[in-house]
Amino acid sequence: MSATLWTRIQKFLGITADGIPGNQTAQAVAARLGIDAATPAATPSSATIDPRSAANIATLKPEAQMKAREWLLKCLEAGINVKIITGTRTYQEQAALYAKGRTAPGPKVTNAPPGYSWHNFGVGWDFVVFDANDQPLWESPLMERCGRIAESLGLEWGGSWKSFQDIPHIQLKQDCTLAEARQMVSSGKWWS
Ligand SMILES: [Zn+2]
Repeated sequence: MSATLWTRIQKFLGITADGIPGNQTAQAVAARLGIDAATPAATPSSATIDPRSAANIATLKPEAQMKAREWLLKCLEAGINVKIITGTRTYQEQAALYAKGRTAPGPKVTNAPPGYSWHNFGVGWDFVVFDANDQPLWESPLMERCGRIAESLGLEWGGSWKSFQDIPHIQLKQDCTLAEARQMVSSGKWWS
């Protein structure tokens, strides 16, 4: 359904007409239909996770998978066309990336050798917002909105980092350091 139609429905219901059907719209529709709004009706949302995001989510640790799904659905329900474009990178994959611009051709793409990125530990993912033609919008203000949604769910957003801002990055808050995580990986305790 188009945003224009939702806007008209919302205007008709006398609520904020932002064209994005969320909880408020559901409640207003329920009230109009005489359904007890205290029993929250299912949010009328057609939000589904795209295959690329789903594949990347599948590479994360179970608790990160849950949060990534929750975050992504929240963004989609807000009408943002966002996808998870990176999940976990194995040490081997990180090594290949780190080699670029050093021992392999091309420009440098990362400063993190294997074990020095939270992507190597199944707790972080990268996202980008897409336009209607599936072109990535790295500079879109919606990137920040997705980051703020992550923070509202208790996640860490790279856009709030002080020393090195990483706007497309989200991760579970960790109570250990990367060095401790590496130690746990080598003693077989991290992924279990
Ligand atoms: Zn990242």
